[in-house]
Order: sequence, then structure tokens, then C-alpha cells
Amino acid sequence: MVALVTGASGGIGRAAAIDLANHGVNVICNYNTNRDGAEETLGMILNNGGTGAIIRADVSDEDSVNRMFIKIRKVYKRIDILVNNAGIIQDRFLITMSPKNFTDVMKTNIEGCFYCTREALRLMCSNKSGSIINIASTSGITGQEGQANYSASKGAVISFTKSIAKEYAKKGIRANVVAPGFIKTNMTKVNKVLLVDKYLSFIPQERFGEPEEVANAITFLASDKASYITGKVLTVDGGLIM
Ligand code: NAP
Repeated sequence: MVALVTGASGGIGRAAAIDLANHGVNVICNYNTNRDGAEETLGMILNNGGTGAIIRADVSDEDSVNRMFIKIRKVYKRIDILVNNAGIIQDRFLITMSPKNFTDVMKTNIEGCFYCTREALRLMCSNKSGSIINIASTSGITGQEGQANYSASKGAVISFTKSIAKEYAKKGIRANVVAPGFIKTNMTKVNKVLLVDKYLSFIPQERFGEPEEVANAITFLASDKASYITGKVLTVDGGLIM
């Protein structure tokens, strides 16, 4: 089994790559700017006795994604699991949000998901099997102040995934969403507008999540244990939204 995890140089992507590798999957760890981070992820995989590789691509750039898939096709000839995890935030209240703030977030979070999914599907269709897990956010379901751009992108990830699930079910391909709440990663560290600590009181479990807790959900949806689950949104949020 071969998986591609985008944005595996840290945070949730790293945890997902490591957990999939711990379950016997050969994991291609994509990164964009943080090569050292991707190498660290791969080092952890290899130290645990797993297999994998790193590969650079900017998921928001179609040519860059296509070049990544040319390499993947040449070396692996297949993708069994795709985790579209790469994502960014550019939080602003809407009246101060520039078109660039909006389009940058859309380009990475939903266009990136589109480019990678399309290329992976071409490989999955020829194998008549595959599992796609797209990482959205609870913000994409409920909306969130300061995150109109991000929430719109993650809402789009959800409807995109449901469409793919319907379109490719008959080809043996499943597509699901994992929607994390507040997870302890660099993304929440730099989240200045939202001041995430203020949200702790809204989380029934009274704590932020660990990347590994999101990874567990990703590995489950990727596995045959989820063989009759497609087009679903699994929130991993300590009960934040119900
Ligand atoms: P993170 O620690 O900031 O990691 C983001 C990852 O995305 C990095 O590996 C980064 O790679 C990669 N990335 C960003 N732009 C990219 C691009 N254009 N091409 C390829 N890779 C790119 O964030 P995280 O918290 O782990 O977030 C992972 C996913 O979970 C995101 O989709 C995020 O929206 C979602 N999420 C997170 C939370 C949370 O509370 N943390 C909640 C809900 C949803 P480089 O560093 O190599 O550039």
C-alpha cells in the first residue's frame, strides 16, 4: 500500500504519515517549504521500522502537483491512499481581508485538494480501489469569525469530497473528510485573530486535540475497517460541534 500525505512536514500531516507507516503503509511525505521538517517526519517513520520518502510540491500550483505525480507514477506506479492535508490560514476580519488573503487560502486549501485528487484518481481508477481523506475543519461546517476565507475553503473541501465520493464509488474508491477542531500545531500557535484559548470553554472535553488523535481517524478512514464508509465527515474536536 502506498500513501501520499500532503503537508507532512509537521503538525497533523506528520502525525498522519507516521501513523499510516506504523500500519504498514509506504508513505510519500509531501512538503512545500519545510524540507527539514519533512526529513524529520521520514526519520521518525524509518526509526519505527516503516518505509517512505519525501517529495516537494506546492499543492496550490498545478504544474508543481503534476510534476510530483510524474515522479510518483514512475517510482510507485500506484497510490492507494491520498491524504489532502496541506492547508494554510490567513485570518482577518472581513473588512480588512484583501483579495490575496482570500485567494491564497482558496488556492492552497481547495485548489490544492482538486489538483492532487484528480491526479491520484487517475492512478486509483486503473487499480479500481483507493481511499481519499480530505482534511477540512469544524470552521468549514459552522463558520468562524475571522476566518471567512478559511471557512469557505473548508466548506468547499467538504462538498468537493461528497461529489468525489458519489462519482467514484462504483470504481471502488472511497472519499471522506476529517474535520478537526482545535489541534495543537503551528497553525493554532500563529492564529492571532482567534486567540484560541478563548475557545477552550466551548470544548466539552475541555482540552485541545493532539495531532495523533486526528491521525487515528485518518488511518481508520484509509483502512478496510471503513470499507462501507464514503462521503462522510468525521469531526475530531472533543465535542466542539455536535
Ligand atoms: P501546520 O502545522 O501549519 O502544517 C501545515 C502543513 O501544510 C505544512 O506541512 C505545510 O508544508 C503544508 N502546506 C502549506 N501550504 C502548502 C502548499 N502550498 N503545498 C504543500 N504543502 C503545503 O498545520 P496543521 O494544523 O497541521 O494543519 C494541517 C491541516 O489540518 C490543514 O489543512 C488545516 O487547515 C487542518 N486543520 C487544522 C486544525 C488545527 O487546529 N491545527 C484545525 C482544523 C483543520 P511546509 O511547511 O513544508 O510549507
